[in-house]
Amino acid sequence: MSDSDRDVLVRGVDLDAETRCAHYRSDRDVVALRFGCCEDFFACYRCHEAVADHEAVPWPRDRFDEPAVYCGACGSIMTAPEYLECEHTCPHCDAPFNPGCRRHVHLYFEKPS
Ligand SMILES: [Zn+2]
Ligand SMILES: [Zn+2]
Ligand SMILES: [Zn+2]
Repeated sequence: MSDSDRDVLVRGVDLDAETRCAHYRSDRDVVALRFGCCEDFFACYRCHEAVADHEAVPWPRDRFDEPAVYCGACGSIMTAPEYLECEHTCPHCDAPFNPGCRRHVHLYFEKPS
């Protein structure tokens, strides 16, 4: 899949066809996440830091029914709860996701209030 074939524009540093970036390049790092500040998808929070000109804002809870997580392996888009409940596997293509992302989950999704 080339850049132009993607339905979703994913931003970041040195992205490959499955949205791995300069920071996270393992087989499992195929997820891109949407940020509340600019509503753009980024390969990771460090990509947002590098590319965007503003502070990152996690995806807000009142928009958890909207598409917010992109699977770079199959091109499908999940909502935040779908991603958080998927047990590190894409519900659409079974691609394994990096469980280590969970350590950064507060950077991507607004915490329950
Ligand atoms: Zn932003
Ligand atoms: Zn990155
Ligand atoms: Zn997938």
